Amino acid sequence: MEKKEKIILTGDRPTGRLHIGHYVGSLKRRVELQNSGEFDKIFIMIADAQALTDNADNPEKVRQNIIEVALDYLSCGLDPAKSTMFIQSQIAELTELSFYYMNLVTVARLQRNPTVKAEIQMRDFEASIPVGFFTYPISQAADITAFKATIVPVGEDQMPMIEQTREIVRKFNATYDEVLVEPDILLPSNKSCLRLPGTDGKAKMSKSLNNCIYLSDSEAEIKTKIMGMYTDPNHLKVEDPGQVDGNPVFIYLDAFSRPEHFAKYLPDYENLDELKTHYSRGGLGDVKVKKFLNAVMQEELAPIRTRRKEFEKDIPEIYNILKKGSDEARRVASNTLDEVKSAMKINYFEDVELIKEQAQKYTSTN
Ligand code: ATP
Ligand code: MG
Repeated sequence: MEKKEKIILTGDRPTGRLHIGHYVGSLKRRVELQNSGEFDKIFIMIADAQALTDNADNPEKVRQNIIEVALDYLSCGLDPAKSTMFIQSQIAELTELSFYYMNLVTVARLQRNPTVKAEIQMRDFEASIPVGFFTYPISQAADITAFKATIVPVGEDQMPMIEQTREIVRKFNATYDEVLVEPDILLPSNKSCLRLPGTDGKAKMSKSLNNCIYLSDSEAEIKTKIMGMYTDPNHLKVEDPGQVDGNPVFIYLDAFSRPEHFAKYLPDYENLDELKTHYSRGGLGDVKVKKFLNAVMQEELAPIRTRRKEFEKDIPEIYNILKKGSDEARRVASNTLDEVKSAMKINYFEDVELIKEQAQKYTSTN
């Protein structure tokens, strides 16, 4: 048997600029994987068709954010020479695959998906869920399988989608033929990065909740957002003992700070554990912790912002990169679709045997 290729597919919805939740949840890892040289192919998708499933009345938002997401990708270090960046809607094959996969999934199974359930609630869709939104896990299965991805590096909220994809793959292969590949999810190894909370303390930083620190925020914006962050609401006076668990300021420190940051910005403490102990004991004010977090975040985000400024100078070139990537993605997806159609026996004109068989049937009856 030929050696199984190692292929990555992942992506983001162009519903806004990318934030530090995307960064720690997926983007940073993608860049590391890209540069590891261990993967045969890497596909990074701007999921505009998926974004339209809950933004049907706001296509302008989706259209405007394509370039924002692409700029964020490039400024984080995704490199078009190593990773194919493309736009979902330009690959018609993905829609076609979704249509066939729909026959392999029940409504009850979709209704059980916890992420979709939570998202429906968040968008007040309970009474009127667009069918496209309800079925987006199927379209995501099409995206992943079209490229025969083996690894999907994403945040924790995507777990039910990958599980759904694996089920579709098994069902397809068992029903028709071994064409599709079961992907594995790759979650962030740092627990705090699985689902970074918002600056407001809500469970997930999300473009739709307006509780984000964006990768492209200015130094001043980052500082204002951090100094205004939600912390332990019972930590009123500096002397009060503070709660570290579930406190977004400490979760961000878990995600971003390293021992060398302490030496540089807060030498009274060796590491994060010491800082946490002091906070829990009481006598450590929120402002001091937030100032430290600000220093750490500024250090991490400044180079990304600087690179972004460079890429912003040649916007047409970025559309070029996306166009080339989309052409390449289309070639790959089209090969998979051919295999799918032939496994499903809907490749009539290529099926010489079928034509012969039918001809014979009619010769013998005539
Ligand atoms: P929307 O509100 O439009 O759904 P979003 O902020 O949830 O936007 P997506 O484009 O849906 O962003 O997600 C893109 C990727 O980023 C996914 O892999 C997702 O798991 C990851 N991700 C999104 N938000 C977070 C977060 N707060 N923490 C960790 N990972 C995240
Ligand atoms: Mg989302």
